Amino acid sequence: MLKKQKLKVPFAYDGEKGLCAPQTAEKGKQYFCPACEDTVILKKGEIKTAHFAHKVSETCNQETIIHKIAKQRIVDVICEWKRGRINAPIFKRQCKICSELTDQPMPDKVERAVLEYKVTNGFIVDVALIVANEPAAAIEIRVSHAVDENKARLLPIPFIEVDGQAVIENPTIFEPVRDCFKEFTCKRCKQTIKQFGVKVNKIAKQTNVDLPDRYYRYGFWECWKCKREIILFAWPKTSDWDKSAPKVKPIPRTIQYRYSKTVAGRYWVNTCPYCKSIQGDWFLFAYPGPFFGVRCKEDSQDAYNKDMQDIVVSYAEYKSEL
Ligand SMILES: [Zn+2]
Ligand SMILES: [Zn+2]
Ligand SMILES: [Zn+2]
Repeated sequence: MLKKQKLKVPFAYDGEKGLCAPQTAEKGKQYFCPACEDTVILKKGEIKTAHFAHKVSETCNQETIIHKIAKQRIVDVICEWKRGRINAPIFKRQCKICSELTDQPMPDKVERAVLEYKVTNGFIVDVALIVANEPAAAIEIRVSHAVDENKARLLPIPFIEVDGQAVIENPTIFEPVRDCFKEFTCKRCKQTIKQFGVKVNKIAKQTNVDLPDRYYRYGFWECWKCKREIILFAWPKTSDWDKSAPKVKPIPRTIQYRYSKTVAGRYWVNTCPYCKSIQGDWFLFAYPGPFFGVRCKEDSQDAYNKDMQDIVVSYAEYKSEL
C-alpha cells in the first residue's frame, strides 16, 4: 500500500476563515485545514517549533493546501496594503530593453484583490487585481502544474504565475515563474529613451530632417568628414549587397542616390546635410556605429520597433563616450 504523505499545513483557518500562522495561533482555539476544512491540531511545545498537525486523509492533498493558502495570502497582503499598513507588494519584472530584473511596486490604481474570480469567458483565475471595478490582471499560483496553454492563450487579462511555496514564505514579493503582464521598461531605460529622443530631435531640427516613425530606422553619429552630428538612417535590406531603392516615400532628404568611388557606382546612401559627403554603409552596423547589433532585415512595424529599441540600447552603451 502506498504510504500516505504527511500533510504540512503552514497556515490554518481560524473560526472566521482567516489564515493563521502556528506561531500566533492560540491553544484551546479551533483551527481548520484551508483545503479540506477538517480540524487540525495546534502543536506548540518547548522543543518542537509550533505547527499544525493534519489527520491522515484520503481526500486532502498537499498541493491543494499550498494552492489555497498562497492565493489567500496574496489577497490578505493586498488588503493590508490598501489599508495603509504595509508598503505596496513588489513584482519582480524583467525590463524589455536591458533585461534586468527590476522591482515594480503594485500600482496604486489596484483597488483590491478578489479570490477565485470568474473572468468574462468563464475561466477562473486564482487572484484577480481589480482596477475601476474591473479585473485588470491576474495572479496564478503554480504548485506543480503550470497554467495550461489553452487557458494562458484565452485569458482575457494579463497574468503572471508565481510559485505557491515562495508566496507563502513571502507574499509581498512576486517573482513570476511566468510573466504575461504588459511588457515592462525600467526607469533607467525610460530615461535613456527620453534622452535619445531629445538628442535626435535636436539634431533633426538643426539639420532640417524629418524623423519617420516606420521603415527608416534612425540614429545619429558624427559626419566622418565635417565632424558634425547628423541623423543617419537604415532601412530593411535583404543582404549587404542589396542596392535597391528604399521602398517607402517620402525618402528622407539626406538619403540620396549618389555615385561612390569606393563602390564604383550609384546607390542609395546617407549623406551629410552640412558638407554633402557620402556616409559609407560599412561603419553603420559595425562596432562602434549607430546601428551596431541592429538586424534591419524585415519590413514590418514590429521589426521596426524592435530595431529602434536596439538602437537605443547601443546608444545607452556609447552614451558615456558621445
Ligand atoms: Zn486538509
Ligand atoms: Zn531597463
Ligand atoms: Zn559633413
